Amino acid sequence: MKYISTRGQAPVLSFEEAMLTGLARDGGLYVPETIPTLDKAEIAALAGLSYEETAFRIMRPYIGDTFTDAEFRDIIAKAYAGFGHTARAPMVQLDSNHFLLELFHGPTLAFKDFAMQLIGQLFQAALKRNGSRVTIVGATSGDTGSAAIEAFKGLDAVDVFILFPNGRVSEVQRRQMTTPAEANVHALAVEGHFDDCQARVKDMFNDFDFRDGVKLAGVNSINWARVLAQVVYYFYSAVALGAPDRKISFTVPTGNFGDIFAGYIAKRMGLPIDRLVIATNQNDILHRCLTTGEYRPDGVIPSISPSMDIQVSSNFERALFYAYGQDGAAVSQLMDELKNGGFTVSQGALQALQELFDSGNCSEAETSATITDMFATTGELMCPHTAVAVKVANEHRKTDVPMITLSTAHPAKFPAAVKAATGVHPDLPARMADLYERSERVTEIGNDLAALESLIRERIQN
Ligand SMILES: *Cc1c(COP(=O)(O)O)cnc(C)c1O
Repeated sequence: MKYISTRGQAPVLSFEEAMLTGLARDGGLYVPETIPTLDKAEIAALAGLSYEETAFRIMRPYIGDTFTDAEFRDIIAKAYAGFGHTARAPMVQLDSNHFLLELFHGPTLAFKDFAMQLIGQLFQAALKRNGSRVTIVGATSGDTGSAAIEAFKGLDAVDVFILFPNGRVSEVQRRQMTTPAEANVHALAVEGHFDDCQARVKDMFNDFDFRDGVKLAGVNSINWARVLAQVVYYFYSAVALGAPDRKISFTVPTGNFGDIFAGYIAKRMGLPIDRLVIATNQNDILHRCLTTGEYRPDGVIPSISPSMDIQVSSNFERALFYAYGQDGAAVSQLMDELKNGGFTVSQGALQALQELFDSGNCSEAETSATITDMFATTGELMCPHTAVAVKVANEHRKTDVPMITLSTAHPAKFPAAVKAATGVHPDLPARMADLYERSERVTEIGNDLAALESLIRERIQN
């Protein structure tokens, strides 16, 4: 299996190379040259399998010869061993045809653990074999950073630097990044928004001198291996509800478009998905784009669902690549226009997107009201990101197609919003109950590329 860039100008890579590289050298994102498919019998045969075995069968065709079957099974087993639920991704029922897929039983209580724990094991295995070392740099709106630090802390072949917007992540998110004591972990509080952090990480990747000098590797959701890991739970949950004999829809709380793009890949692989619904908070650029074709960032407004406070949605580039018939030059041009304020999706591409995706947004008041209402009517406490999705799912639900809404974080990760809406303080699971007592280690730094690069160079020499 080979991987190509969405902008068509970067070298074609193997799975291992694409995984270790992250961003393509032409600024694009890697996608598989072809998308493998499963026939109906192969999908039906997934029924009743463990999460790990499902993961092996879904991801195997993408790995090529990077790992043997035995190695890959071992990597998957290690990745999910630390989850707090044997089903890994259990479902609960909200209404007669509405289900919540709980993706928050990993070590940092958000769905990012599904991809990050796997990537940690993949990197470890590949680097050990090559005898090489890398510097991982990532930007986070909160959950990616904690998941990355948890997955990479203490591994010998990596240093991990996480940029997060100072003062704009929840206390639990911050503490998950600043309390690990391992020397290879570096939490950087950057003056600015998530989009600034993400832009600086992209700048580092485009500074080839720096990139090659420190052996930069990326684990943001632009990394193909992360998207791939997320494809698994679409199959796992849909099959549990009767696929492939029955169509299923999904609603996904969306920021950087990684999670819902994994749903798109599942559909292309043959999973009978009826609708993929994009749910956004008040930062609703994706909803506006799907409705009007105009993609014009106009500044982030902080919300109670901070992991979705995004205006430049990186993985949307992958969706555009397919909507434009895999035309790398067209994507390249759109991304150039984005640097100058935004772009208009062509009629044909917009139609292609609308055939696949529905969308909706959710205000702050509606988010709180949904948390209140769901607690009252079902007894479920939910995090604000999940509530955004539940509100939008309820607007798109049909009686004859089950809707699975992705529950992306544990309510205890966002206790203030949950308490305000329900009067109930959600408790952290016992395994991390002492989080508020652990001591913190963090470096505050300006939104400045040169300062960031010199700090990273210094730290990795020690
Ligand atoms: C990251 C995140 C999202 C958004 O996922 P994307 O893949 O960026 O669209 C939603 N909810 C939570 C809790 C998250 O951490």
